[in-house]
Amino acid sequence: MKEQLFGAVEAQRDNLTAMADKIFDHPEYEGEEVMASGLLTDYLKDNDFEVEMGVGGFKTAFRAVYEHGTGGPVIGILCEYDALKGLGHGCGHHMQGPSCLGAAIALKNAGLKEPFKLVVYGTPAEETLGSKCEMIKNGCFKELDVAFMMHGAPNTCTDVKCLAQNSYTVTFKGKRAHAALAPDKGKSAFDALLVAFNGVEFLREHVPDDVRMHYTVEELPGPIEPVESWIMKMTHVSDEEKEQLLQQGEPFVKAMLRMGDELVDFCNSEFVYQGHCGQEAYLTFYDLRTCAEDVLELPEAHKYRVELIDTWDMTRTVLLENASGKTKLTLPGKEGTAVLARKVD
Ligand SMILES: [Zn+2]
Repeated sequence: MKEQLFGAVEAQRDNLTAMADKIFDHPEYEGEEVMASGLLTDYLKDNDFEVEMGVGGFKTAFRAVYEHGTGGPVIGILCEYDALKGLGHGCGHHMQGPSCLGAAIALKNAGLKEPFKLVVYGTPAEETLGSKCEMIKNGCFKELDVAFMMHGAPNTCTDVKCLAQNSYTVTFKGKRAHAALAPDKGKSAFDALLVAFNGVEFLREHVPDDVRMHYTVEELPGPIEPVESWIMKMTHVSDEEKEQLLQQGEPFVKAMLRMGDELVDFCNSEFVYQGHCGQEAYLTFYDLRTCAEDVLELPEAHKYRVELIDTWDMTRTVLLENASGKTKLTLPGKEGTAVLARKVD
């Protein structure tokens, strides 16, 4: 019997591997596995299974039945075919459908005399929505006496682990306050999150061997006291554009324009904004760039005081006195800093 089943699987080899390759090359996600479910159900139909599409509340779920006689055991074979977002078929689900179909059809053609019923279930969105739970609620699987599935692994093995799962989404809410001016008034939601994570780690020491605990951060809104974020895309600013930008209140442009009307060479190269006011002043804003050093091109003929402006801590620090010409700067390597060079002679 075993030899016969292996032979029946072997006979399907080309079809099964072609299906697996096609699913691998066209990954589909989260209940949108239209191509994969169509491919698998077509193969089942060609092999005398009666197919019902869109079962259990999922348009890409299916139930395929082959019955031999009546009153025998109902054997369930369950397959998944969804991929991992951003990764494709990293979990090997492209193999599940073809493998399960190969097994079902081999069993169907095994020439068993006793009555039996084979039910192949296609269960989509395993990685994200966990469709099987929803499908159970919607009446699927109830008729099965036994259920099988397979999963890709580096070796041939039987995996007897079966874990129940629960998940929680926790939202931590803090109290907003200015981090530099009134830190005592604020409450950090992030601190609460860190404490909770540490708590889970302490708990891990005191749970049975087969308990798994995992956590992640789904959404992190950023600093407690956010600064306005803005992006400008231009190389030169016309009078009209200046007016428009002023109205929009772009803080950097405002600062630039306050330095005088002689605004030239205002450019944005990979989020470093530079401009100068004649030879009086040169301003560079590094925005999100965390530069540890930079080189200023100052006129040789004049001397400049170079200051570091930290827009986050709201501080101004003198970096260099009497700088001129090509001037190498050491910077703190943090976001939101600017360098202002002002002529002193
Ligand atoms: Zn998997």
